[in-house]
Amino acid sequence: MNHFDYTNGTLHAEEVDLALLAERVGTPFYCYSTATLERHYRVFANAFPQGSLIAFSVKANGNLAVLKTLGKLGAGADVVSGGELKKALAAGVAAEKIVFSGVGKTTDELKLGLKAGIYQFNVESEPELIALNDAAAALGKRAPVTIRVNPDVDAQTHAKISTGHAETKFGIPWSRAREAYALAARLSSIDIVGVDVHIGSQIVTLDPFEAAFRRVVELVRVLRADGRPISRLDLGGGLGVPYRTDNAPPPDPAAYGAMATRLTKDLGVRLILEPGRLIAANAGVLVSRVIYVKQGEAKTFAILDAGMNDLVRPALYDAFHDIVSVAEPGPGAPRERYDVVGPICETSDIFAAERDLPRLKAGDLVAILTAGAYGAVMASAYNARPPAAEVLVKGAEWAVVRPRMDDDALVSIDRIPFWL
Ligand code: PLP
Repeated sequence: MNHFDYTNGTLHAEEVDLALLAERVGTPFYCYSTATLERHYRVFANAFPQGSLIAFSVKANGNLAVLKTLGKLGAGADVVSGGELKKALAAGVAAEKIVFSGVGKTTDELKLGLKAGIYQFNVESEPELIALNDAAAALGKRAPVTIRVNPDVDAQTHAKISTGHAETKFGIPWSRAREAYALAARLSSIDIVGVDVHIGSQIVTLDPFEAAFRRVVELVRVLRADGRPISRLDLGGGLGVPYRTDNAPPPDPAAYGAMATRLTKDLGVRLILEPGRLIAANAGVLVSRVIYVKQGEAKTFAILDAGMNDLVRPALYDAFHDIVSVAEPGPGAPRERYDVVGPICETSDIFAAERDLPRLKAGDLVAILTAGAYGAVMASAYNARPPAAEVLVKGAEWAVVRPRMDDDALVSIDRIPFWL
């Protein structure tokens, strides 16, 4: 469910005409819908017991305006770097609602989290545990810790976003979990508070989650028998979203929440969830203009002014994104088959292959849907192309929440050494 619909012949974000926005802001730009973000957050939060912490995964969409929108509803933040931690704090998310994940936190990042007084560190290795203990001791602080365990389950998702099986770098191997907790218990500046698990992203059936959560529930019992004070269970993120309308939708948050609640309710733990994609993906579109329609030998190419530097998911994961024209196609409008591509000098700079779309011509606007998560955050300036601007809509209001960097600014970032 989202708030991008055709009204009076053009695609609107809530009450804002995307064609008008394109005139004002220029293309390409990401457009986020506040109502959609709010709806997704509420649906998700309502699926879990009161008092659970819903820590939005900042890696999915780190725009301060998005973080603030969610923070005002009560969301916390799941961060994976010092930069993300600073963003969450700058957006007004309270430190006591921030969890710090990630396999490679540096001592400086750990100290940043300790000084801010964040809710917990999700520790992913024994060396990190020791580094955190040392950092906390040096600052005279205590570090609240969950250990991320790797439950060795198959998340049944794309290999590049699968994190919960034994061969990945994530979490502490299942076989060493008890030892890792024993180590944590010996470290004088560490407070064990819980267990953490995250098995991957864009997971579209409940089975892998259920398998992982069952293992983790069992582990909590074992750890408690070992005398570890486990009062929190962080179940990570990963619930998938419908990128296309022609296959079965992923399970809804209510079913996911009911399953997680049923499995964990006897433990008396506080649940923490780290959803990213589910909240943000369908709350954003990438609007782009067709530069040329080019007739190839075997194909017709619609060449956009957005490229893989703006939205890399198709190139990186062969991800599917629906593409629609911003002008509403009338009934019986002619259609053609296109490869929809960007201007970048890479064959992988393609948004859709052999896609049937209403006939396009240079200057037409298209919207690439479900682009609100892992879109702008993964943008780069490859080919010296400043990444797309970002706009947030709320009802009839809109604001540029990240201006496009102009290419002169991009050029001026580099420095020429005095001896050149
Ligand atoms: N938590 C952790 C530790 C992650 O690595 C990720 C992303 O992979 C998430 C949460 C968010 O996942 P998703 O956006 O699929 O909900």
